Amino acid sequence: MIELKDIRKVYNLGKVELEVLKGISLKVEKGEYVAIVGPSGSGKSTLMNIIGLLDRPTSGTYKLNDIEVSSLSDVELARIRNKQIGFVFQSFNLLSKLNALENVELPMLYAKILPKERRQRAIKALERVGLSDRLYHRPNELSGGQQQRVAIARAIVMNPAFLLADEPTGNLDTNSSIEIMKIFYELNQLGTTIIMVTHEQDIANHAKRIIRIRDGMIIEDSFVKNRITY
Ligand code: ATP
Ligand code: MG
Repeated sequence: MIELKDIRKVYNLGKVELEVLKGISLKVEKGEYVAIVGPSGSGKSTLMNIIGLLDRPTSGTYKLNDIEVSSLSDVELARIRNKQIGFVFQSFNLLSKLNALENVELPMLYAKILPKERRQRAIKALERVGLSDRLYHRPNELSGGQQQRVAIARAIVMNPAFLLADEPTGNLDTNSSIEIMKIFYELNQLGTTIIMVTHEQDIANHAKRIIRIRDGMIIEDSFVKNRITY
């Protein structure tokens, strides 16, 4: 479970201070599927980075599975992140010199999983996103939608409890976006908790719950009535 209480984030820009998150309180239970929407600059990515342990809040408390994370060291945070949290970004963030399999193996390399098991698990993750026939392709030999599916395979290969996606369909055409939404749907059905940032209402409607952010504050938190399912 994710539990944020009065989270604030202030950037110090020399003479001025910029308060980007102004007291965010939020609970996300296991198995939820949440869409975060809001205008550009409203603090969505900042919030996602804090939830994903890539950044620390200026103040407030954050409990992840009942552990108060602010008391943990960077090394401990990295370990939790690698095991529990998968990330998907708008720009895919794949390594261009590595093929699909090698990209998916990366998190397991950090986790010191042995080569044979790494390979097996990477193949399985790529099968799961429908890319069994693209194992040895490099990112520039794949379409945007396929690259994003490799990124999802990489994000789920450690079986994370949480999948965080920041504009996962932002660079994709409608059909590829639907492919990604189908995969998210299946992952959520199997128990993965998903938090996704999006600008598009059609994409947000795949979630069970929508949180609207404006100027660093939550202005609406509601369940999706006519959710899109597969
Ligand atoms: P978008 O929809 O465009 O991705 P966002 O809601 O994700 O926007 P954030 O990236 O969280 O917005 O940024 C919120 C505000 O914080 C912006 O004004 C941004 O310029 C500022 N900001 C973000 N990161 C930093 C940083 N490292 N240092 C200073 N200011 C930052
Ligand atoms: Mg952003």
